[in-house]
Amino acid sequence: MVLNLAVGSFMSRNAGHASALVIGGGPAGLAAALALAAAGVPVTLAAGPHRPGGQDRDRRTAALFAGSVELLRNIGVWDDLEDQCAPLKAIQLIDDTGRLFRAPEVTFRAEEAGLDAFGYNVPNDALVTVLAARAAGTPGLTLHPTAGVRNVRISAGSVMADLAEGDVLSAPLVVAADGRNSIARDASGITVETWSYPQAAVVTWFTHQRAHDGISTEFHRTVGPFTTVPMPGRTSSLVWVEEPREAERIMALSEAEFRRAIEGRLKGLLGSVGEAGPRAMFPLSGLTPDVFGRNRVALVGESGHVIPPIGAQGLNLGLRDAATLADCVSEAIVEGRDPGGSAVLDRYSALRAPDVNGRITAVDILNRTLLSPYLPVHLLRGLGLHVLNLAGPLRRRIVREGVQPAAYVPVLMRSGGLDVVRAGRGAAAVASPA
Ligand SMILES: Cc1cc2nc3c(=O)[nH]c(=O)nc-3n(C[C@H](O)[C@H](O)[C@H](O)COP(=O)(O)OP(=O)(O)OC[C@H]3O[C@@H](n4cnc5c(N)ncnc54)[C@H](O)[C@@H]3O)c2cc1C
Repeated sequence: MVLNLAVGSFMSRNAGHASALVIGGGPAGLAAALALAAAGVPVTLAAGPHRPGGQDRDRRTAALFAGSVELLRNIGVWDDLEDQCAPLKAIQLIDDTGRLFRAPEVTFRAEEAGLDAFGYNVPNDALVTVLAARAAGTPGLTLHPTAGVRNVRISAGSVMADLAEGDVLSAPLVVAADGRNSIARDASGITVETWSYPQAAVVTWFTHQRAHDGISTEFHRTVGPFTTVPMPGRTSSLVWVEEPREAERIMALSEAEFRRAIEGRLKGLLGSVGEAGPRAMFPLSGLTPDVFGRNRVALVGESGHVIPPIGAQGLNLGLRDAATLADCVSEAIVEGRDPGGSAVLDRYSALRAPDVNGRITAVDILNRTLLSPYLPVHLLRGLGLHVLNLAGPLRRRIVREGVQPAAYVPVLMRSGGLDVVRAGRGAAAVASPA
């Protein structure tokens, strides 16, 4: 078979004949390893304990759009997740700035984009658990548990990763899924621009008296959004953005005070608030790289982009990275090319840059127009949302584009994508968007 011969010519002794070594066992790294394996790319995953922000569990949920859910189906984890997730049927934006010029209320409905749901709200902890379980039992994927990769060294034909335990793994391609402080990215020479916002998000879940009807609501306030996202039953997850000092104060509230504070912000939207879950706090920041792949290293997930939690873009971008990289690497392997060579990385970078950079810019502008004290900025924001509120093709296009960029749909994010890669036509299918 062409595929096996091609893979064999890029075998690495240390990484157990893998063409790719994924570093990082967060949701993006696990999904990347499974997507590569599904696309027929032999892969090793070096994963340590996953403790985002140093916490024992990831208490966030991620609103994942239809393409991301399709990827989860194609890599075989959706059936184990679905009953812990809730469909997102509509997204409602409410101007809660109290300013003179307020934007109109805008509601986007999934049916406008021809969908039953925009996607699903997925608990991160459950997602990582099912992805890790799947990774442990996937042929072609070697799971290498480690306390961490300590050093990454790049030579002409391969990349070597020194593990905390003293082992050395190597492969022609390293997938840097080791988060925002990625050492694999640093080793590649890729540079990043980073910035912070005067904001922090408090996250939790809570139960409520009234049904959410599958609607996620973003209250846009002058300090940032206050967002509820449906979970199964009469439960919602909450992302409450505040100035860091106020966020610290909210973190320290008693449960009864916290429940009353949520009710106050919701203004009766979901009725009285019942139980509230444990809280976690995330300072908001941004990160963009100069390029998404260089010197045998491809950036996947937060090693390549950090974006404020507005519009639910972060992990959706990370999963599109994973599926796109699987297309690029499987294509190279089918054609007998070096999976970590510059042609693969240049193609990957060219495919990812417009999607990532466009969304980071849009979310940054939206966030800064909320924070801005200037009246003309408020007027512009209101005008923008008025335009969005008009029915018509522009609005439908914006709704569809928010969920999935039309320019390029990776094979594993298409319905039936797994059949395409199983038939060995992954590379041919890459050229033609769905
Ligand atoms: C408040 C909030 C709400 C959000 N809501 C949404 C949403 O609704 N929808 C959405 O799409 N996104 C959302 N996001 C974004 C989403 O949570 C992130 O994009 C996602 O969790 C990042 O996953 P990752 O795998 O890229 O990075 P991480 O989760 O940081 O994983 C990196 C992994 O690499 C490991 N690692 C690090 N260094 C090493 C090393 N040297 N060796 C080995 N392993 C290493 C770490 O231990 C970790 O397991 C939200 C973010 C925030 C802050």
